[in-house]
Amino acid sequence: MSAASTDCLERKCAAAVQKLVDLKINFLAIDFDQTMIDIHTGGRWKGTTAELNEHMRPLFLHLVTLATANSIRVAIVTFSCQTDKIREVLELSYNSTIADLIPIRGCDKTWSYEGCGMKCGKQQHMASVVEELQRKPMLGVGEVTKRSTLLIDDDPKNIRMCLKDGVRGVWFNPRDGERLLDDILRLK
Ligand SMILES: [Mg+2]
Repeated sequence: MSAASTDCLERKCAAAVQKLVDLKINFLAIDFDQTMIDIHTGGRWKGTTAELNEHMRPLFLHLVTLATANSIRVAIVTFSCQTDKIREVLELSYNSTIADLIPIRGCDKTWSYEGCGMKCGKQQHMASVVEELQRKPMLGVGEVTKRSTLLIDDDPKNIRMCLKDGVRGVWFNPRDGERLLDDILRLK
């Protein structure tokens, strides 16, 4: 990526994050396969972490960094069981202050959601993160609600479920990642 296009992408990400701030969105839930990274691992990645990290979309490097700087908490919500691998990718992509603040909810059994909210799609993943955020006030995020949450996911089923549950969601087009930024600017 040239310096000019990196600059342009960073500016567009800054505008999108400003929009999130204006809408009082304080929790960004991001899918991993085909969204944060540009491939589908199916939770069966056999290569190295560095090789997987090459698939990180530059868009999310800027978006997550800027969101964190604006006190918006970010989490990875995924059906992949390779959460250790994902953690390593986050550590390679972001500085540790940012990476350490990103909870991951995958299909491993390291977490559970006992609440009475919707459990389909990514809803229980997000609800579980919200429980963690509210338990740790030092993370500096105020009350997280359905309207202050935004799911970004390439699977339309998850977005449909999310909208049905009253949570904000934006479908991520894996073939046109930057469209996400325009879609965020269109949120009301
Ligand atoms: Mg996906």
